[in-house]
Amino acid sequence: MEVGWNDPRCLVCKSEAPFSAEHIIPEALGGRLWARFLCAPCNSGLGEVEGGWKSDPAVRFAFNRLSEQIPELARRLEEGQPYIFDSPLGILDGRLRKGEVTLDSQRLRDGSIVVPSKDGPKKVETMLRREGKDNAEIAEALARLDAATEGQYIQLSDRTAIKKDAAIAPRLKLNSPDVKPLLVIKIAYEFLALHVGSGIFHPSLDRVRDSLRLRDLSPDCCLFEELHASSYGPFHGLLISQREPVVVVVRLFGYLVYRVSFPSVGVPVGTPLAGYTLCLDSGEEDLSPVGDSIGINAVEMRPCPPEEDLPNG
Ligand SMILES: [Zn+2]
Repeated sequence: MEVGWNDPRCLVCKSEAPFSAEHIIPEALGGRLWARFLCAPCNSGLGEVEGGWKSDPAVRFAFNRLSEQIPELARRLEEGQPYIFDSPLGILDGRLRKGEVTLDSQRLRDGSIVVPSKDGPKKVETMLRREGKDNAEIAEALARLDAATEGQYIQLSDRTAIKKDAAIAPRLKLNSPDVKPLLVIKIAYEFLALHVGSGIFHPSLDRVRDSLRLRDLSPDCCLFEELHASSYGPFHGLLISQREPVVVVVRLFGYLVYRVSFPSVGVPVGTPLAGYTLCLDSGEEDLSPVGDSIGINAVEMRPCPPEEDLPNG
């Protein structure tokens, strides 16, 4: 859903450069709400940080939990993500490639090399060829490799021995840098702009703009709180839960709830507050006015699909 924007200044650097389409909740996370209010350099600069979103441990847990409800999105987000294998050789690295977790080829501290089983024969051939073995010797070594049982060391040449190991269950590798506060603040700031229009350029928000422009969070630019709801759900939501000072609630995958409050900024009484919900399974979006009292508690945000019996405002 596109929302209109009338001010000629970029929301981040205030320059009057041509705008490009900016997704308020990143498109990579399934986001569909967008506006033209960032210049292309600011947009692509923030896009670089957004690349780190899907590796955030909480975000990764969330879409893995929802992989049955949002299979396509979960698969897309998981593709290329790192995994680890707890093996007798130590912790080995792997990655999800084309929907399948595969071991990375890697060299261990003792100099030995670990490769996925499917790459074993090719690797053996390369190593033996480098040692000057001829085709007959290589074929003989590959036949012995093929016949070997798990755990058995076989000497393929004076210099090369190999062992087949059993497959080990991989687990998620969760070691990504924390890009979340900056990106959540970006979402909150852009959603606030939809409410206050040109009021977003108030000097009290300069620190927020500096943080986004430099991609380095200034600790006193706003207050960032991390909460959670009681369960995961296939939806994202945005809400202004308090006018003065303004508090924006960002809710991702139903469960991850963030509150961002911008000191010295308010949404004037008379400006309607809007709530936004995106159903990730159906792609349905809803941006509509909410009463002033509905969003005091983040978990009161409208679940997806909307429940009939929620109190009005
Ligand atoms: Zn800009």
